[in-house]
Amino acid sequence: MKLVTVGTVAFDNIETPFGKADKVVGGAATYIALAASYFLKDQGIVSVVGDDFPKGTMDDLRKRGIDLAGLEVLPGKESFFWSGRYHYDMNARDTLETRLNVLLDLDPVLSETYRSAEYLMLGNLDPVIQAKVLDQAEAPALVAMDTMNFWMDSAMAKLREVIARVGILMINDSEARQLSGEHSLVKAASSILAMGPKYLVVKKGEHGALLFSKERVFFAPALPLDEVVDPTGAGDTFAGGFIGYLAHSGDHGFNNLKRAIIVGSAMASFCCEKFGVQRLLELNREEIDQRIRQFVELVDFDIELV
Ligand code: AMP
Repeated sequence: MKLVTVGTVAFDNIETPFGKADKVVGGAATYIALAASYFLKDQGIVSVVGDDFPKGTMDDLRKRGIDLAGLEVLPGKESFFWSGRYHYDMNARDTLETRLNVLLDLDPVLSETYRSAEYLMLGNLDPVIQAKVLDQAEAPALVAMDTMNFWMDSAMAKLREVIARVGILMINDSEARQLSGEHSLVKAASSILAMGPKYLVVKKGEHGALLFSKERVFFAPALPLDEVVDPTGAGDTFAGGFIGYLAHSGDHGFNNLKRAIIVGSAMASFCCEKFGVQRLLELNREEIDQRIRQFVELVDFDIELV
């Protein structure tokens, strides 16, 4: 198998200043795998849901080539549930409620096919679970990881152990500041890269994303959209497009990571156009290619130095 993603598969209630949606399908692994599915067919999810999770959605995921043998369905239990409300500045949101439900029972045991995956995406989850998946991976070519402030507050030591073992850490700007204790993102990056990862991706919502190695830095803007309906999952969709593109191309050099950042940004822009995973279920190749071309235009300029 090319890519294995561990993360939540969930129901979300979402409120923005302009609209509201209840019990839509979400979850980090759902967004990641759907975004990656436009670049590779050979991938699987490691997660758990209750028997309340819609069979239709599972069929939609399978139709996109996502293997669900690693998605446990627990009878009589409820799926992970998250609810959030966005501020007028939709880069900021408050979590209203998190019900772990089945997540409390997640103790991933990977099949042989999953253990031999070439690429591993550790979605935002308890670092203990992320480590369990990593322990079972045989010799992945690349491991990328997401996390959040909650784990920095509650499980920093374990989190640092996992961070030390991954090739790429993908977090947002406030998480990079919290993890490093540095306000400057340049200093934060250098401190985080010293913890182990070869690359750091810092997501800045509608303000784009930065890619750091020890020697180099690259910035990609986010596409200015007419209307942001729901930014939920944009970070995960970014990660899915990014890792899907890398796994498809097999090149982990800095220049190809720059392309992967653009692909991730393009996929994230689609994610924001409708509530939940809806937009990610209905994309086609031409739309994606067209959007990637928009990014090229967005940052293209000529200048004559005086
Ligand atoms: P993002 O907007 O990229 O941060 O992703 C939001 C998705 O992450 C939602 O679909 C939620 O179901 C899921 N989520 C929210 N809180 C958590 C959490 N504490 N652990 C794991 N997944 C979460």
